[in-house]
Amino acid sequence: GAASDALHRLVRDVPDYPEPGIVFKDITPLLSDPAGFAAVVDGLAAAGRDGEGRVVVDKVVGMEARGFIVGAPVALALGVGFVPVRKAGKLPGPTHAVSYALEYGEATLEVHCDAVAPGERVLLVDDVLATGGTVAATRELIAACGGETVGVAVLMELSFLPGRETAGDVPVTALAVV
Ligand code: 5GP
Repeated sequence: GAASDALHRLVRDVPDYPEPGIVFKDITPLLSDPAGFAAVVDGLAAAGRDGEGRVVVDKVVGMEARGFIVGAPVALALGVGFVPVRKAGKLPGPTHAVSYALEYGEATLEVHCDAVAPGERVLLVDDVLATGGTVAATRELIAACGGETVGVAVLMELSFLPGRETAGDVPVTALAVV
């Protein structure tokens, strides 16, 4: 489809970034192409609708930083609110925090306690699903608010990593598997 074509044409592999041995998926050419960007936003938004096209989520949650860029237009397309999940110390109000292991060291993510109401259904949106650690940590944050993660939508899933398993028991939509 149009989204998968755009991803294959407009996402660039950058070898040895941010460190030797890593091939980084650079989405900036995709973001600067309005037709390609629109196609992938449509593709992600479909994960927030049922078979009849009805919106079945209450919030879109995007993870810093590229999850903001792709998640915010998805929230607008669905007509629901957008919630940023941020790195530690960036949100001004009371937060829930979750720390998780990275390949080297540890990261902490936060969400405003009142950003997701108890019982709300949440769609998580990010650019790349790699190890799945970011998604798993964000699901804990949504649960701490009393919300439920009902879907995960990403542009690209890295096929050589067990991201889906780590993400846990939730449907994952990837517009491309690379
Ligand atoms: P994970 O927690 O699944 O290992 O990593 C996913 C997070 O790291 C996402 O927030 C994503 O933005 C970022 N990430 C990891 N690898 C890449 C990559 O190759 N390209 C981009 N654009 N982001 C990546």
